[in-house]
Amino acid sequence: MTTPKGGSAIAPTGEAQIAPAQGFDSAKAWQHLQKQVGFGPRPSGTPAIVETRKYIIEQLKSFGIEAKEQPFIGMTPLGEVSMANVIATIPGRRPDRLVLASHYDTKLYREMRFVGANDGASSTAALLELGRVLKGRPNELTIELLFLDGEEARLPEWQGTDNTYGSRHYVQAAQKSGSLKSLKALVLLDMIGDRDLSIKRDSNSTPWLVDIIWGTAARLGQSSTFSNQLTTIEDDHIPFLRAGVAAVDLIDLENPTWHTAQDDLEHVSARSLQTVGDVVVAAIPEIEKYLLRAR
Ligand SMILES: [Zn+2]
Repeated sequence: MTTPKGGSAIAPTGEAQIAPAQGFDSAKAWQHLQKQVGFGPRPSGTPAIVETRKYIIEQLKSFGIEAKEQPFIGMTPLGEVSMANVIATIPGRRPDRLVLASHYDTKLYREMRFVGANDGASSTAALLELGRVLKGRPNELTIELLFLDGEEARLPEWQGTDNTYGSRHYVQAAQKSGSLKSLKALVLLDMIGDRDLSIKRDSNSTPWLVDIIWGTAARLGQSSTFSNQLTTIEDDHIPFLRAGVAAVDLIDLENPTWHTAQDDLEHVSARSLQTVGDVVVAAIPEIEKYLLRAR
């Protein structure tokens, strides 16, 4: 998979006119999903997540997107775990950043083989494909793709600080370096691949950002997927919200395969990835417009 570098600048006459605006291609996202599942269970600190990370960075590179690792140690109830976020940047006309994020770790299970086709792989696959699409068009804001490690709790139950290791580390580091100031909004994707996808409005998320995305979904005829029902979600967006960053979580937490051995290829669908991909791509200019007006 390669992208001709600078192809449009040296394209033969006519090519520029016929090249269509590249849309989100769920077939490509599906390949990324399958690839991750093929690595097997991918808990933080395992060889399989290192493979996954390598794959993410290679794919980004093939799109012409620069990515760097942000390594850190997660202090978990089960001891110290080596973790790393992957931060990729698509420069825009302005340095202000819109961050699109997903966690790419899968939950640690000893009693079952948990491959996280939905929980981990689906949103990560979509994020890679979003990168390809967004790299191919002019963006007003700088787009950052953030692949987070350590979202999952190390212990069976989600409690205290035993979760969201990667997002908490990222926000702390950004506060320290001062780069958080140019981070204007976060769109988090998590578990967007299940066959019967229903994404509810999360009451923790920032209202204007929720309204833009749900409004875009309605405009695209996707109101059956983007439900107006309310839910309350704790996820990687919380550390950003606490730091004062506008954030929205697109998640379907209410699916029967969640944290079961059935979170496999048979229970996810490329169509769901397409729906979310289309809505996010269409919502980005609206988010940019809102942020520029709010300046
Ligand atoms: Zn999970």
